[in-house]
Amino acid sequence: MQINVSIKEVVINSGIPLKKRGKNHIGLCPFHSEKTPSFTVSEEKQIFRCFGCGEGGDAISFLMKLHKITFREAMKWLGHNTFTFVERKPDMKKVMFEAWKKSYLNKICFLIRGINRLLVSGFFKGRWQVERSAVLFHALPVLEYHHEILCGSDEDLQKELYRETGGC
Ligand SMILES: [Zn+2]
Repeated sequence: MQINVSIKEVVINSGIPLKKRGKNHIGLCPFHSEKTPSFTVSEEKQIFRCFGCGEGGDAISFLMKLHKITFREAMKWLGHNTFTFVERKPDMKKVMFEAWKKSYLNKICFLIRGINRLLVSGFFKGRWQVERSAVLFHALPVLEYHHEILCGSDEDLQKELYRETGGC
């Protein structure tokens, strides 16, 4: 899981008091002189923006601009201070992929079981049913192959299958 420093705490720890306003926090902009706060910090998006001078960015770029330091120095600066860590929102693509994996695997298991039962039971008699059972016979190895991919550990193959099946 990816973690992020809390931009609100970075700003406050840099000596800029913030007040809560709605979803955001506001304060006096350190990048231009002002009497009414137009410096806005969003904890949700982990960014800052000043509506007075147009400065904006994330916690790292805030530190870089404020202290006129490099990216590396800003990272180091963060390492020397303790901040609470904010969990990032779960990756929706990953969530959907995992959900697809689960449901497609269920579907495949259901189909493989069903086909095997039909083939064994001698349900297919007569010319028409023979053709039908041939179709199922051809479908079986494909399903078994998909089953193998889904139960395996090769995520690239799984993602390929995900795209092929349109994520059903
Ligand atoms: Zn400003």
